Amino acid sequence: MKGLVTQPRQNPDPIVLSPPLMNATPFEAPFERISGNAAHGLVLIADHARRALPLSYGQLGLPDAEFERHIAYDIGVEAVTRGLASLTGAPAVLCGFSRLLIDPNRSENDPTLIRQLYDGTIVPGNYPISPEERRRRLDLFYHPYHDAVAALIDEVARESGAAPLIISVHSFTPVMQGRPRPWHAGILWDRDDRAVAPLIAALAADETLVIGDNEPYDGALPGDTMHRHATMNGLAHALIEIRQDLIAEPAGARAWAERLAPILDALNARPDMHEVRHFGSPPTGQDEDPIMTTLTDDQKRDLEAAAFRRLVEHLRGRSDVQNIDLMNLAGFCRNCLSNWYREAAEADGIALSKDESREIVYGMPYEEWRALHQTEATDDQKASFEANRPKDH
Ligand SMILES: [Zn+2]
Repeated sequence: MKGLVTQPRQNPDPIVLSPPLMNATPFEAPFERISGNAAHGLVLIADHARRALPLSYGQLGLPDAEFERHIAYDIGVEAVTRGLASLTGAPAVLCGFSRLLIDPNRSENDPTLIRQLYDGTIVPGNYPISPEERRRRLDLFYHPYHDAVAALIDEVARESGAAPLIISVHSFTPVMQGRPRPWHAGILWDRDDRAVAPLIAALAADETLVIGDNEPYDGALPGDTMHRHATMNGLAHALIEIRQDLIAEPAGARAWAERLAPILDALNARPDMHEVRHFGSPPTGQDEDPIMTTLTDDQKRDLEAAAFRRLVEHLRGRSDVQNIDLMNLAGFCRNCLSNWYREAAEADGIALSKDESREIVYGMPYEEWRALHQTEATDDQKASFEANRPKDH
């Protein structure tokens, strides 16, 4: 189920943005809780509702204009979410800080968690960023927000006596890299389509609307808010993306809240939205590795290289561990590692001698290392080695 559900009637409407709001929405807290009827069973979430930054961060070195666009927040989402909360009576959590500070809709391991470059803009306040500052933003902003989301979900489960239905609200830019996006709204999802299919059907019933199914992007992002709070807990959910120009003005936001509220109420009334169900892989967290699915090939290579360097460094530090012990225990030793290095070089057309590759691993000529660290093998070690000797030793 990909692509358009209905065909576009016309080009997207012109973009109209609301006037600057930086001074109207100062940072107050990492999240805002909108109270509602927890017994109702519906939870509303808005990750990118705000563009506020704590005073100590200034504007992260960016001019006002950068806070008028999607890199700072999801335009119109706060108004739509407030409208939905008031119309449905559902409680909500709004994130209280700009995604430029730290993106709540990313896993902690995601390379775009704290963006240094975002849609052509370098973010001076994020570059460079120290591990301490990264930790600080996780502790002071990211974690309190996610704790608030988890607490609300727990509360609604308790009060309603069933699994809550989770609805997340976002908005997307009308044009991306010069290409207009034809959808008025899109429903993003990963593997649980319980809420998705009825939502798309209800929205697409209005023939003037172009509704995307996992458009403008795919909703499967391990570690994002829906994955973390809904998928991993087997809760029915959907992420609604609305084109930002449609909700940038209060009237448009109100109209979309009024359009969505009865649809969400009808969805929320279905018993199957309140059952815990796991789709695809079991929710143990053991079977998936968010790092591997979000890393680029270059990043993987860099990390693999770093792990190799650490292994080599470790072996250099543990010169008490004899090669014969390594061989007997694990079937490889420093010389094997040197050979693997040389073979990898050879495969890349780089000529390295045995001595050169050994020096890279030992950090000194092999004979020097032997003189310094190699001890006489015991008879037991020799016997074990002979018994398990691989062909190339
Ligand atoms: Zn968003």
